[in-house]
Amino acid sequence: MSTFLDLGLQEPINRALTDLGYEKPTVIQEKAIPQIISSTADLKAFAQTGTGKTAAFSLPILEQIDQTNTNVQAIILSPTRELAVQIGKNIEQFSKYMPNLKTTTVYGGSNIDEQIRKLKRGVQIVVGTPGRTVDLINRRALRLGNVQWLVLDEADEMLNMGFKDDLDKVLSATPETKQTLLFSATFPREVEAIARNYMDSPVEITSGEKNSGSDNVTHQQYIVTERTRYPALRRIADANPEIYAIVFCRTRRETQQVADNLIRDGYSADSLHGDLSQGQRDSVMEKFRKKTIQILVATDVAARGIDVNDLTHVINHKLPDQVENYNHRSGRTGRAGSKGISIALISKKEQGRIRSIERIIKKKFIQSTVPTGKEICEKQIFTIIDKVHNTEVNTSEIESFLPAVYEKLADLTREELIQKFVSKEFNTFLSYYQNAQDLNDVSSRDNERSRGGRDRDENMTRFFINLGRKDSLNPAKLIGLINDQKIADKVEIGAIDILDTFSFFEIDKNFKEATLDAFKNNEPEFDGRFVNIEITKSDRGGGGRGGRRQGGKKSFGNKNGGGYGRRRSESSSGDSRRSSNRSSERSSERSSERRSSSDRNSGGFGRRRRER
Ligand code: AMP
Repeated sequence: MSTFLDLGLQEPINRALTDLGYEKPTVIQEKAIPQIISSTADLKAFAQTGTGKTAAFSLPILEQIDQTNTNVQAIILSPTRELAVQIGKNIEQFSKYMPNLKTTTVYGGSNIDEQIRKLKRGVQIVVGTPGRTVDLINRRALRLGNVQWLVLDEADEMLNMGFKDDLDKVLSATPETKQTLLFSATFPREVEAIARNYMDSPVEITSGEKNSGSDNVTHQQYIVTERTRYPALRRIADANPEIYAIVFCRTRRETQQVADNLIRDGYSADSLHGDLSQGQRDSVMEKFRKKTIQILVATDVAARGIDVNDLTHVINHKLPDQVENYNHRSGRTGRAGSKGISIALISKKEQGRIRSIERIIKKKFIQSTVPTGKEICEKQIFTIIDKVHNTEVNTSEIESFLPAVYEKLADLTREELIQKFVSKEFNTFLSYYQNAQDLNDVSSRDNERSRGGRDRDENMTRFFINLGRKDSLNPAKLIGLINDQKIADKVEIGAIDILDTFSFFEIDKNFKEATLDAFKNNEPEFDGRFVNIEITKSDRGGGGRGGRRQGGKKSFGNKNGGGYGRRRSESSSGDSRRSSNRSSERSSERSSERRSSSDRNSGGFGRRRRER
C-alpha cells in the first residue's frame, strides 16, 4: 500500500494530511492522484460518496497550482450548497500550510456581494454550485479564462437536479486547454453525454466496481403497506436504541410529516428539506453532527454533502424514484471503514425495483421482518442493562449520599430491586408494546385486501392530461406547463407518468380545484395542441368533479372513446411505473424551483433549492 508521498504529494500537503489523521490513501486517491499529477488527460472517475473522492481531486490540484498567480486556476462544481461548503472546508484543511493559496466557495442563498468581494481579492480555487457560478460569470465577477482544472463532482446529481444548462454555460467559459475531472457515482446516459461532448479521450478510473455499493453496508428490505410504514419505522428505531440515522423521503411534505410524527412520538428527530431557511438547515445539521438529534429525516437533495461518517442506518422510508439514487442514499452509511445498514421499507409491489437495485449494487437484500413488541422490549432492556453494567462508579462523588440510599432500599431484596428498576425504565415501553400486533401480519393482510390496487399517496390528487410522449412531452416540460399556469405560490407536484399519447401527474390535493381552474381559465396550448386535464376517476370521489369536461376542448376520452379503463391497461403495459420512478422526486423538487423563480430576491425556498 502506497503512501501519499509515493503518490507524488510533497510537503506542505503531506503535513496537512498527517494533521487530519489521513494515514494511507484510499483506493480512488491511489488511482486519481498520480494520474492527475502526471498527465493533463481528462479523467472520468467512478466514485461513491464516502470513498475519499474530495481529496482525490483536490490534492493533485493543490500539488500543481501556482500560488503566486491570483487568477482562478481551478473551478469545482458541486450539486448542492452543503457539498460545496464541505469541499471548500476540505480544501482549506488540505492547504493549511500553503499561505498564499486562496479558496472561495460560492452558492445561492447567501450574499452575492460578499462572494464578489472575495473573488476580487484574488483566489486560485473556486468551489461553487452551478447556478451561482453562472450568475457570477454573467456579472463578470468570476473569470474562468485561466482555468486549468474543471472538476464536476457528483455529475449525475447535477444533471438530476436540472443543472444541464448551467453546466454548459460554465464549461463554455473555460479554455479548451483545461483538464476536466468528472466524478460520478453512476454513469447514466446524460453523464456519458457530458463526458462525450466535453471531454477529450478521458482516462477512466474506478474506486471499485462501477456502481457497486460499499462492502461495509448490509442491505435489508421490510415489506410494509401505507398503513404499516410509519409504525414499522418506529419499531426499527426502537429495536436499535443507539440508532444514528438518516431517513430518506421523496418529497418535502413526506419529510416534514415523518419528522413531525417522530418528534410527536418522542424521538430525537428533525427534518432537513428545501422549505427550511438556510439558518434552520444549518442549525439542524449542527444538532445532527453533535448527535443531539439521532434521526434526521431528509430529502435526497437536502442530504447531499452531509459529511457524517458514523451513521448506523440509512432508512429508505420510500424508495427513491430513480433506482440509481439508492446507491447515493446507502452510501451515507458504511463510510470511512465503519459498518452500516441500509433499510428499504417497500410495498410488496416494489420487490421488482429491489431486484433492479440489487443488479446495480451487486448485492442481495436481506428479507427482514419488522421486530415484534417483545423483541423490541428485549433489545431495549438489555441495552440499558449493559449500560448499567458498564457504568463506571465514581465513588468519591456519590459516597456521601450512599448510606442514606442504602437505608431507603434496605427492605428490598436483590430481585425486587431489579424488578423495580426494570419497571421504572420500561413501563411506558412495555405498555406501548404489550398488545402490539405483529406488523408483518398486518402488512400481509393489507396486501391481500388491496391486491391489484395501486399504491397511492393520499395527499395527492392524480390528474390525466391529454399529452404524451408523441407530443414531445417529458417530465420537465410537463412541470414547466404546470408552473406556467401559476396555480399558487407553492404547489407540490408528485409522481408523473408520461405515456405515449397521454400522461398523469399528481398535485397536492389542497390545490385540486385551483389546478382545474387555472387550466380552464388559461386555456394553455402545448405545441399548438389544446391542453385538457381531468381528475382521474379514482381521485374524484363521491360528489367530486367527476366527468368534468372543459368547454369547447376535445378531451382524450371523447376523442378515443376508450375511457379510463383502457388507459389504465395501456398504462400498465407501458413504462408508466418507470417514468414515474424517474421523474417524480425530481419533479417535486424542481417544480418548486421553477415556481419560485419570482421569489429569488426574497430568499424563497426555490432559490435555495436551486442553490443559486
Ligand atoms: P469523501 O468521499 O471525500 O466525502 O470522504 C469521506 C470521508 O473520508 C471524509 O470524512 C474524509 O475526511 C475521509 N477521508 C478521505 N480520505 C481519507 C484518508 N485517506 N484517510 C482517512 N480518512 C479519509
